[in-house]
Amino acid sequence: MTPYQAVVVGAGLSGAVMAERMASQLGWRVLVLEQRPHLGGNCYDEYDDAGVLVHKYGPHLFHTDKQQVWDYLSQFTQWRPHEHRVLSQIDGQLLPIPFNLTSIRLSFDKNEAEAMIAELIGRFGLDARVPILQLRQETSPLLQRLAEFIYQRAFVNYTSKQWGVRPEAISAAVTARVPVVVSTDDRYFTDPWQAVPADGYSAMISRILQHPAIDLQLSTPMTDRLQLDIANGKVWLDGEPFAGIVVYTGMIDQLLPGEAPLPYRSLRFEHQHLAQPQFQSATTVNYPNEEAYTRITEFKHLTGQQHAGTSIVYEYPCDYQPEQGLEPYYPIFTDEAQQRYQQYRARLAEFPQLIALGRLAEYRYFDMDDAVDNALEQFNKLRLQWTGEGSK
Ligand code: UDP
Repeated sequence: MTPYQAVVVGAGLSGAVMAERMASQLGWRVLVLEQRPHLGGNCYDEYDDAGVLVHKYGPHLFHTDKQQVWDYLSQFTQWRPHEHRVLSQIDGQLLPIPFNLTSIRLSFDKNEAEAMIAELIGRFGLDARVPILQLRQETSPLLQRLAEFIYQRAFVNYTSKQWGVRPEAISAAVTARVPVVVSTDDRYFTDPWQAVPADGYSAMISRILQHPAIDLQLSTPMTDRLQLDIANGKVWLDGEPFAGIVVYTGMIDQLLPGEAPLPYRSLRFEHQHLAQPQFQSATTVNYPNEEAYTRITEFKHLTGQQHAGTSIVYEYPCDYQPEQGLEPYYPIFTDEAQQRYQQYRARLAEFPQLIALGRLAEYRYFDMDDAVDNALEQFNKLRLQWTGEGSK
């Protein structure tokens, strides 16, 4: 007989939170299966050979406006307050991104810049945050000129590199993540809580998973221990029928062999250590146009680590090719992909033992705080089902 009441597939942020809640709130024994040799999913960070803490899968900046998420994670980590700032290399200048009033003043001559700013404020109000695709709809010649400049120099090539398609071909919500800002606020995020875990994401997620009722098994593909028969709604763990909950945080299409895979965008990372104290003036510099990479991040800016050298990472977007050892990062939000995802979800709905959770399984562009919030919410639904009790 298995000792487990639940199996979680994937030890990323979503899976870790769900495992911890089931163990600590329901008293369940939980098995977590992770196919990679480390926990944390794409949030994983580690010390590189030079001893600098780096984010293996690209920069992760925690930010949230959700008190419950902040309180939950604060049980497992101290924080280092850090407001993310990004510069974008455009026509030989470094301009603040999100594109804001300072960026406008750096890009146009004084009179034109001030006229644009006056119109922007008149039209949208001070402090407004306007998606670029919305700004492009404006009919005034001055705002059109501004929108075209920002679209052409900051967005269209970056987005084509990042997604392989032009901005109009993906959900408008994607480019709306980085709006045009009608103020001089140059922060990338405006949330009240912006910080990085004081000793890193891996340490935080490791503490989330440290509950004595959780067994974590790394380097273990799900199929080593768990078999799912989706068509007949049956599960086996270690060869025996399993009646507990399965929380699946992998790619949903992998549960449905024979079905067309969902499209994902991936990234190749080029990590470098440099024998100099600093490489660039901001945590992240975007390269929207000429270069093949989209951005360079220098980790010491965000971790605050003191070190004589510095470590940076270049991001090269690419299609997701598992045979090349790439990881899936971003769901590609075309209408067709969304529809296919909905069909797959409908099939899994007939399998109540299975909970699809997180960025990959729910085919969503979750930020880390959304992932935690979503896991807490899904846990509350599960608790209600099992115990009749709502959230405490
Ligand atoms: N984007 C852009 N230029 C930039 C920054 C962002 O065109 O300088 C677009 C691009 O399509 C990107 C999206 O805005 O995928 C969201 O950017 P964000 O920085 O939120 O992406 P993430 O950090 O999640 O990769």
